[in-house]
Amino acid sequence: MRRILILGGTTQARELAQRLAGRSDLAVTLSLAGRTANPAAQPVPVRVGGFGGAEGLGAHLVAERIDALIDATHPYAAIIAANAARAAQTAGVPLLALRRPPWVAVAGDCWREVADAGAAMRALGDAPRRVFLALGRNDIAPFVAAPQHHYLVRSVDPIEPPLRVPHARYVIGRGPFGQADDHALLLAHGIEIVVAKNSGGEATYGKIAAARALGLQVIMLQRPTLPAVAAVETIEDAVAWINHVPVPCADREV
Ligand code: NAP
Repeated sequence: MRRILILGGTTQARELAQRLAGRSDLAVTLSLAGRTANPAAQPVPVRVGGFGGAEGLGAHLVAERIDALIDATHPYAAIIAANAARAAQTAGVPLLALRRPPWVAVAGDCWREVADAGAAMRALGDAPRRVFLALGRNDIAPFVAAPQHHYLVRSVDPIEPPLRVPHARYVIGRGPFGQADDHALLLAHGIEIVVAKNSGGEATYGKIAAARALGLQVIMLQRPTLPAVAAVETIEDAVAWINHVPVPCADREV
């Protein structure tokens, strides 16, 4: 029996857990940060909440006798990714990052890449625009400094307290979001600019394809730098890597 800890909170993490659930040679636990009030159901046992930094995560790996750690968090979750790298090294536990490749602009896309949410806010300019903020609630705070715009904010949980700007509307929703629905949403709200993270994957690509079809500009937050660890892009490659994790000595047949 090999004990696998998946750091999750993403569609990919849930899909990987689904692939591993029910295997008698693995004991899989999924870890969530606890950001959403009603997290999606998961196919394996779940633990919720921070570990207390890299040291806390390292202690958890040792205490739970984890044989392999999978970082399947969001590509913008740079703190937990760095913590995972440090904790795995100090605890001597193999680590694999499951990282979605970023979207790449194609013909017809009009992207402007910026460093962070503050730079995205400044890139909107002085003239009032109708803006779709496809950002998590932790990332929208800088936009209070640009109250001249009309904002449409989409998030999994309600934005509490609401953004302190005169013109903001909210859509609550959990992906996947298809192109047709996002096309209709952008049209219905007269959106002129989309602000997004380069999350990769299909679940949230609808707004990018819809923006292309409507000829809208996308202000794209650049991905943060993540630690240089062993990484794969697909569930299949992650499963193959897990299949090669050594069985702990105590569990080996003699
Ligand atoms: P973060 O900034 O990298 O992590 C902050 C802290 O949250 C970590 O130090 C850790 O606390 C805790 N944490 C994060 N992921 C965890 C997990 N899977 N299990 C247990 N604890 C976890 O990550 P974030 O705050 O989740 O998000 C940062 C950015 O990523 C935001 O832009 C957010 O919208 C986006 N995002 C993240 C996820 C995700 O999978 N985490 C999903 C969707 C979007 P301790 O130091 O106490 O251990």
